[in-house]
Amino acid sequence: MVLSDLGRKLNAALSSLNRTPVVDEKVLDALLKEVCAALLESDVNVKLASQLRQKVRGKVKAIFEGGGEKARDANRKNVIQKAIFDELVNLVDPGIEPYKPKKGYPNVIMAVGLQGNGKTTTCTKLAVHYQKRGFKSSIVCADTFRAGAFDQTRQSATKAKVAYFGSYTETDPVAIAAQGVAKFKKEKFEVIIVDTSGRHKQESELFEEMVQIGSAVKPDMTVLVLDASIGQAAEAQSRAFKESADFGAIIVTKMDGHAKGGGAISAVAATKTPIIFLGTGEHLTDLDRFSPQPFISKLLGLGDVQGLMEHMQDLATQNPDRQKEMAKKLEEGKLSIRDWREQIQNVMNLGPISKIASMIPGLSQDLLQGSDEEGALRMKRMIYITDSMSSAELDSDGSLFMEFAKDGKPIGLTWRVSRVARGSGTTVREVEELLCQYRMMANMAKQAGGKNGWLQAMQKIQ
Ligand code: GDP
Repeated sequence: MVLSDLGRKLNAALSSLNRTPVVDEKVLDALLKEVCAALLESDVNVKLASQLRQKVRGKVKAIFEGGGEKARDANRKNVIQKAIFDELVNLVDPGIEPYKPKKGYPNVIMAVGLQGNGKTTTCTKLAVHYQKRGFKSSIVCADTFRAGAFDQTRQSATKAKVAYFGSYTETDPVAIAAQGVAKFKKEKFEVIIVDTSGRHKQESELFEEMVQIGSAVKPDMTVLVLDASIGQAAEAQSRAFKESADFGAIIVTKMDGHAKGGGAISAVAATKTPIIFLGTGEHLTDLDRFSPQPFISKLLGLGDVQGLMEHMQDLATQNPDRQKEMAKKLEEGKLSIRDWREQIQNVMNLGPISKIASMIPGLSQDLLQGSDEEGALRMKRMIYITDSMSSAELDSDGSLFMEFAKDGKPIGLTWRVSRVARGSGTTVREVEELLCQYRMMANMAKQAGGKNGWLQAMQKIQ
């Protein structure tokens, strides 16, 4: 997965801070150096990385002042971790709200980007996304430069059951775009996506064509489609497009690959434009909504409760009431082991584990190691363990497995743990691990809504 290397390195840097007994400026310098090196290695622009370093330093300066006082290292760790988290969020958050399509209105979305970036595929994915959410959606193929472009649109739109428009004979892309948009507006379509050409004999002709199509169809939103693997070139490419197409949103494709991906982050900063979706595969449903904070949280292995809840809503078609109840419990931090098991089972039915597991707080780091098959096997063992639990245990918050001292402090595990291990053909250690992961999930879910929740949860985890 794109950026998973960066996530691992950042996580390692922040974890090492937690293990340091004394936090002084030397520790801060070493930490920031490590964070910057991780960013640079994943192709984030050097200027952005050094800006992040300065901003964090500026934000935390005050904690080192007041010399003679006894150092409050735990508090220093909090302040530093929060500053780094916030600045990572700022890297992918230009602070601008993207356009949101309105119901009962013909929202025209124009897609631009170089050929091969995944524009045509993304147009269909977008149409499917909005169609699923009740918008009557359509695609106009205004790419007359590439032979076969209209056929590609026709095939994928037919597969996705989305209306499409294009021409085998008309050679003027501006005319096709105008005709298609007029037709779909007349037919009361609510989302009309215009796919433009991504290549020309001369680059200037491509940009000129975009300007002309733009003035013919007057898009409500122009989207730049960027390939995650283009690295540092993303910045120059996005700047060039911004000058002529003035896009208001970015979709980064091929996030499922092995590219470094930091270049796409630089494109956000260079053009001050928000990312709205990530393309995560070749299938029509491989499109994830993007929001800065959950993205960074997931990147750092802290889960993405918001994304998980959206996924659960997508799953709601099968059993809407149960899913609604689960979403509420998750929000309130009241998920029992039984509920958690149900979520793991849902995840297993959803396809590649690497994609969904990172959304479940407490699961990501371990399950993302190795192949999807290995991950699936690990999840299956977790299910075996819960299968050996009694009803009361499943409905509990895990405290039945703990022994407590008189003052309420946990002092050990009860006989139930070895019984479950024997019954499930696993080890006491595996059962312990499962309980620990469940507790992390419960903590994360509880904290997710609260202020600075991520920080407290992270400290509990490490
Ligand atoms: P266009 O030239 O920009 O219209 O690009 P296409 O839509 O034809 O896509 C180029 C290639 O990239 C095709 O093989 C697509 O299947 C593939 N592609 C597009 N988006 C993604 C993605 O998110 N992940 C992966 N793995 N492949 C993608």
